[in-house]
Amino acid sequence: MSDRIRMTTPIVEMDGDEMTRVIWQWIKEILLNPYIELKTEYYDLGLNERDKTADAVTIKAAEATKRLGVAVKCATITPNQERQQEYQLAALYDSPNATIRSILDGTVFRTPIIVAGIKPFIPTWQRPITIARHAYGDIYKATELALYEQWQDSRVELVATRPDGQEQRQLVFDFASTSKPAGESAGEPAGKPTGEPAGELAASKPAGEPAGEPTGEPAGEPAGEPAGEPAGKLAGKPASKPAGGIVQGIHNTEASISSFARACMQFALTRQEDLWFSAKDTISKTYDRRFRDIFAAIYQNEYQERFNKAGIEYYYTLIDDAVARVIRSEGGFIWATKNYDGDVMSDLVASAFGSLAMMSSVLVSPGGQYEFEAAHGTVQRHFYRWQQGLKTSTNPVATIFAWTGALARRGELDGLTDLVDFAQNLEAATLKTIASGKMTADLLAISSLESKQGLNTEDFLQVIVENL
Ligand code: NAP
Ligand code: MG
Repeated sequence: MSDRIRMTTPIVEMDGDEMTRVIWQWIKEILLNPYIELKTEYYDLGLNERDKTADAVTIKAAEATKRLGVAVKCATITPNQERQQEYQLAALYDSPNATIRSILDGTVFRTPIIVAGIKPFIPTWQRPITIARHAYGDIYKATELALYEQWQDSRVELVATRPDGQEQRQLVFDFASTSKPAGESAGEPAGKPTGEPAGELAASKPAGEPAGEPTGEPAGEPAGEPAGEPAGKLAGKPASKPAGGIVQGIHNTEASISSFARACMQFALTRQEDLWFSAKDTISKTYDRRFRDIFAAIYQNEYQERFNKAGIEYYYTLIDDAVARVIRSEGGFIWATKNYDGDVMSDLVASAFGSLAMMSSVLVSPGGQYEFEAAHGTVQRHFYRWQQGLKTSTNPVATIFAWTGALARRGELDGLTDLVDFAQNLEAATLKTIASGKMTADLLAISSLESKQGLNTEDFLQVIVENL
């Protein structure tokens, strides 16, 4: 075994849970250890170990990634109440991915793994489309209020208070204007929504809670459109239309948007692919416009020259235009999206390419640290079968690609061409295996190949070895 590939710097290895933990071991035994003197700094992010260390192990693993620069992570359970019982957990720990993301301040890039015989639903797509999702803020850190019953006539404002007490206010919406004739609310003094006595506040519903059934009106009717009603009809009696409504406050920060922009541009350079960024700045003239401007400034000041040299492009376009272009495209670019757009579009793009089990994911920090993983979860149902001693046909491809991504990155950083070559060969052998008609059950169902055979996970891994 002396001719195994040597490594110089360890990769941060984050072990995980359930079926993916089992596959993790197999990948190392069957595909990696025979060829590489694997050097890793091992962190067990399995739920038991997270519980034993009160989740300190997750933080240590993220810090190790900051130090060493390259990590590979197995899928992990994000505990909920059922998992808490199942594993007798002391607490409901945060999602490890969220913890790692907040420590590395990263952006998540998801790229489908394309293989012969699995055709995208969009016939023009020939190369992968990578979605870069901004993973901070917007509706994912929103403050929301439901304003019904005693609150239905609220006037809602945005208030910014400086440290010296100076205030800036902007009207969001005056709900009084929806249940009263227009003239009545217009004369009201502005900016006094907080002047109400505390007692009255306490007597009403907690502000954050929707007040169950505000009216007996059909749910389909919008609350904000009483304008057509004759004033006289409303003036004498309480509003007959559903009144009140909902509000939401969202934010983002210069720091987060800037590091998102840099991560996207860095990633485009690494992959040598064009970068698109989309938002809705025609409607959101301050919020989305700021995203657009930050991207433009960082591109001009830091990346334009390098993009020109690499022969790649950056451009901004409206989200609706982007959607239309994506569908008509051949693929082969990176699509940077705001948080919600990325949440929705990454699932759409993954499904349209064929399978969630064929989606790889990498977290890239502004400091250039990379953490590779599969986009899918721990494949719980398969694990319970495996625990009963049954063989499963769980697709290991995205987990294999997490390893090859990490090995190739490590190899590039350390100048180890044999390690980079091995990673590329392993990816090619994996794709060749599937293209030859040998695949796991999930792919069998969607492959267009005429002659194909479903294999269990271990047999599938053995055929990859034969193709290496
Ligand atoms: P999941 O593990 O991705 O599985 C959802 C379903 O998709 C599976 O039941 C399976 O369908 C299919 N599937 C996913 N990956 C597959 C693969 N490699 N091979 C074959 N089929 C595959 O998602 P989940 O069931 O919602 O979540 C399970 C656990 O994973 C949860 O505890 C969750 O917290 C965790 N999770 C972790 C991550 C992460 O660490 N990044 C991400 C998502 C979820 P069939 O059962 O029909 O075969
Ligand atoms: Mg989603």
